[in-house]
Amino acid sequence: MKTTASEALFARATELIPGGVNSPVRAFGSVGGNPRFITQASGVTLTDADGNAYLDAVGSWGPMILGHAHPKVVAAVQAAAQHGTSFGAPTGREVELAEQVLAHYPGCERVRFVNSGTEATMSALRVARGATGRDFIIKFAGNYHGHADALLVAAGSGALTTGVPSSAGVPADTAKTTLVARYNDLDSVRELFEARPDEIAAVIFEPVVGNMGVVTPTQEFLSGLRGLTRHYGALLIADEVMTGFRLAPGGAVEHYGIDADLVCWGKIIGGGLPVGAYGGKADVMNNVSPVGKVYQAGTLSGNPLAMAAGIATFEAMAEAPDLYEVLEARGAQLGAGLRAGAERHGVPVTVNRVGSMITVFFTEGPVTDFESASTTDTEQFKRWFHGLLERGVYWPASAYEAAFLSYAHTEADIERMIRAGTEAFQGVASAVAV
Ligand SMILES: *Cc1c(COP(=O)(O)O)cnc(C)c1O
Repeated sequence: MKTTASEALFARATELIPGGVNSPVRAFGSVGGNPRFITQASGVTLTDADGNAYLDAVGSWGPMILGHAHPKVVAAVQAAAQHGTSFGAPTGREVELAEQVLAHYPGCERVRFVNSGTEATMSALRVARGATGRDFIIKFAGNYHGHADALLVAAGSGALTTGVPSSAGVPADTAKTTLVARYNDLDSVRELFEARPDEIAAVIFEPVVGNMGVVTPTQEFLSGLRGLTRHYGALLIADEVMTGFRLAPGGAVEHYGIDADLVCWGKIIGGGLPVGAYGGKADVMNNVSPVGKVYQAGTLSGNPLAMAAGIATFEAMAEAPDLYEVLEARGAQLGAGLRAGAERHGVPVTVNRVGSMITVFFTEGPVTDFESASTTDTEQFKRWFHGLLERGVYWPASAYEAAFLSYAHTEADIERMIRAGTEAFQGVASAVAV
């Protein structure tokens, strides 16, 4: 596979941009090799600067639930652009997208649009602190909520593979107010509440973790979180930036029946443009300025192009009544196929999957929290990743990320992915044998 054009671009990029990338995992740091510079994408296919085509399993890390360059979304963005790209004034499109988001989340009555998932979680925390008059928050080891100071403590995603789960540059006083519990371990949460019964503003969590690889919650854990937060007067914040509209129309909140006080969104709701959002009951959200005293603003918030892309995405999703069945079927096919492939070559793996989110951990498992996720063999993953890439499958370049399928993936695409994955397992097995 010729990669000289990507290599040349990467060489130029590293002289201009830290690590040559604008988000760490893109640099292939933990898997080695030269990142591919992408020139275009359509459906399930990515094309790089050398003209190589890849079957995509990243989906821009979550947003592309319909596949790339969906004609409806492209047309909506083009039409919106012709009428101006930003006004700094309210628009009808914001009302329309707000109606769409809230219609799928009956527990939420108000929503505010921002520009990224990071802004959404950061703002939701501020609301929780403002509403409760408390400073402390609880998060879970290996959960990632974007890169706001308070949340870059024991964080997942790129923070894991770059070896800085707790970032430099976060003031000790800020980090001090972030308490870290163990995912799926209620006792670890209870202990933190018992130590500070009236100081904790909120518990924020990924209802299905995607950012230490896919880890699912137990029902007991979910109901326990609701019970504890209610008992201690703290708010429960479901970070659905990744899972919202992916696992079900009402995200993980619907899928698992979670009663959250605040919900954060991103990714899918922007249809591939920069959007985030946070919402909740009116009495909580009415703390936000200009109604309440919690300040939050944005020059480009509710941007017309981003709103148009989000609305078009929702429309196209509504026109696909079998959307979630197809995503589940493709996910199940891929999960079973990869499990069988690994078994055939004697590579011990744990495949965690919910719907169209999937991670292959190179460990006997089970993987239920950060500690067990960390037992994945990153050397084996690295080999497997490059085995896939050589065979034209673009898998997430980290052992601690979820792969994402889209409605555009066909059964035949998944078959191809399984074949490549199985051959790549063979490569892993022969490297182990040496
Ligand atoms: C991606 C993600 C974020 C951050 O969103 P950005 O748009 O990258 O800032 C926050 N929380 C979760 C669960 C995510 O997956």
